[in-house]
Amino acid sequence: MNKQTNSVPIDEAKINSLLETCTANDSDRIIGILDKARELKGLNLEDVAYLTAIEEPSLLKNLFETARYVKETIYGKRLVLFVPLYISNFCRNDCIYCAFRASNRDIVRRTLSQDEIANEVKALVRQGHKRVLLVTGEAYPDEGISYVLKSIETIYKTKVDNGEIRRINVNVAPLNVDEFRELKAAQIGTYQIFQETYHRETYAEVHPRGKKRDYDFRITAMDRAMEAGIDDVGIGVLFGLYDWRFEVLGMMQHINHLEDKFGVGPHTISIPRLEPALGCEITTNPPHEVSDDDFSKLIAIFRLAVPYTGMIITTRETPRIRRESFALGISQISAGSRTNPGGYSDNPFEGVSSQFQLGDHRTLDEVIQDAASLGFIPSFCTACYRLGRTGMDFMDLAKPGEIKKHCEPNALATFLEYLIDYGSDETRDIGEKLITSTIDQMDDTLREFSIKQLEKVRSGKRDVFC
Ligand code: SAM
Ligand code: SF4
Repeated sequence: MNKQTNSVPIDEAKINSLLETCTANDSDRIIGILDKARELKGLNLEDVAYLTAIEEPSLLKNLFETARYVKETIYGKRLVLFVPLYISNFCRNDCIYCAFRASNRDIVRRTLSQDEIANEVKALVRQGHKRVLLVTGEAYPDEGISYVLKSIETIYKTKVDNGEIRRINVNVAPLNVDEFRELKAAQIGTYQIFQETYHRETYAEVHPRGKKRDYDFRITAMDRAMEAGIDDVGIGVLFGLYDWRFEVLGMMQHINHLEDKFGVGPHTISIPRLEPALGCEITTNPPHEVSDDDFSKLIAIFRLAVPYTGMIITTRETPRIRRESFALGISQISAGSRTNPGGYSDNPFEGVSSQFQLGDHRTLDEVIQDAASLGFIPSFCTACYRLGRTGMDFMDLAKPGEIKKHCEPNALATFLEYLIDYGSDETRDIGEKLITSTIDQMDDTLREFSIKQLEKVRSGKRDVFC
């Protein structure tokens, strides 16, 4: 391993001292930070520490309004949709919060064959999905990483009528640089892995055995991925294991490290909260449960701190929380998810166990209809990575104005594709109205261009993007 990547400097003493000194008593300072956030240049560690201390209702209101402003200015109304595809629930690790952990004898396990993966993909494509997050436990059958590579190939080559999966993001255990190069060559979108907790002592407690026990090997995964040329990486924390304020600052230090070293931070941030999982006692009573109010707060804080980084909320959360989070800063959501391998296909997989309980059981169409009725444009856009707009290039493009030229027409074209090919009558109705009102609000040049793109889709062309 490269010497510089032995670890990532998470300075616990500094985090603890900031959490102690940056208090909500200094409301002038907090108002100043919120004003600064409106410049869309992000925030430093100390600023973030102050924001985590906010309790007072008028400051909270200001925080949420500022997050709404930043979200709207940078992302507009679009909301990217994806679905997880679990290919195996075998695992050699023993994370005490996960039903897949090796010592859990209560679950039914399965590793999907390539044919079974193709069947899963067909089921997802028939629903209208275009973006998949491939997920697996850390125990590939004898082939090692080549099982993951083969699975990626299977997913990309499986087509059904007009549809196919156009972007595969991957959430698999940390690899070495050579393996990451193979993943890059397989044309993945984002490589994603969560540190779970940035607090070393807690990390050791919840990962008692297995390769994942090595905190440093895990936290340096993004360095190795980036060294291997994967420049869209996604990081995350499993909230509930340790104090959320500490985790937010830990994640900020990780982001700062990546920015300093590679000139670009993570492409996405994930913020899962601990959900009940079969045979995992810790999940019935999380040691640092994050309340809904604090959860909204941390979403808003990340939106201000790293305005150009995508933020993901999954079906772990309830429809209500998900709805509220869109305005505060979430830019990507999963929908219609199953966390049991084989969960999208029919019968043979009955009984194969899920990773954890879901909070949102709605279908893709129901989620789309709901988001569209709230004015958010569901997007299946996969243009950026296919046109090489990744890493720094993406961040440059993500500046307000620039993003609108690409993202809005692409979101509308992929949304219309969904409505025509897969949408229910009711969703199509709501969606067409949203497309019309979005176009009406565009400036002349963008409107003219978007209308042309939409006409291509209406006349039968698919995968229209710029
Ligand atoms: N096995 C790999 C790993 O652990 O990194 C990759 C996939 S793992 C199945 C995906 C993520 O699920 C983990 O990083 C963890 O944050 C999350 N997870 C595990 N148990 C969970 C639970 N009970 N509730 C919510 N999320 C959970
Ligand atoms: Fe295995 Fe990942 Fe679950 Fe840990 S979180 S037990 S590594 S699948």
